[in-house]
Amino acid sequence: MEIKNARFVMSNTDVKKCPQPDKPEYAFIGRSNVGKSSLINMITNNKKLAKTSSRPGKTQLINHFIINESWYLVDLPGYGFAKVSKGAKNKFQEYIVQYIVNRENLYCLFVLIDSRLEAQKIDIEFINWLGEKQVPFALIFTKTDKLGKNKLEQNIAAYKRELLNYWEEIPPYLTSSSLNGDGKENILDFIEQSM
Ligand code: GDP
Repeated sequence: MEIKNARFVMSNTDVKKCPQPDKPEYAFIGRSNVGKSSLINMITNNKKLAKTSSRPGKTQLINHFIINESWYLVDLPGYGFAKVSKGAKNKFQEYIVQYIVNRENLYCLFVLIDSRLEAQKIDIEFINWLGEKQVPFALIFTKTDKLGKNKLEQNIAAYKRELLNYWEEIPPYLTSSSLNGDGKENILDFIEQSM
């Protein structure tokens, strides 16, 4: 898929106020600083579409963008800050939970994972919670340019082993680098094929 245009639609904190759910929607979420804004800007060929955050937790809104006038891309707030308490659900503002569970046109939630790090408890809890709620999702291992090919493969293999403690099958996963464009085509193909 080629992205011909990408346009901001609205920001809000209420799933009921989101655009009519009449188009396929793909949302991006991850721990703060995982590279979510950079990834959104990379795949949409727009350096400024999603605001890259210098301060953790800055983007606290559900941000809708319309792509090629035919599907929605959603930038969700980063998670994993001091405010959070026990239990995956409580680690999110309630409106994010409502959005993820109730957004009927959410075709896929991309969960961004920093490819350099070991599996983080908060991510695993979140992924498992998505499973419980039967939310369609895929993982994206970000910042692959920061690792050599072998190290990246090792880290992904370790991540899969961790997931196999909870999952019978490995969920779909992709890789990305906003620096060198790795994963752009695969992510766009993945979106196109699931529409
Ligand atoms: P967000 O908080 O998840 O939206 O993360 P940002 O997109 O703002 O990125 C956080 C930091 O990581 C910034 O300094 C980015 O320049 C850097 N970064 C993001 N993606 C990549 C990547 O693919 N490769 C490298 N080397 N750095 C990245």
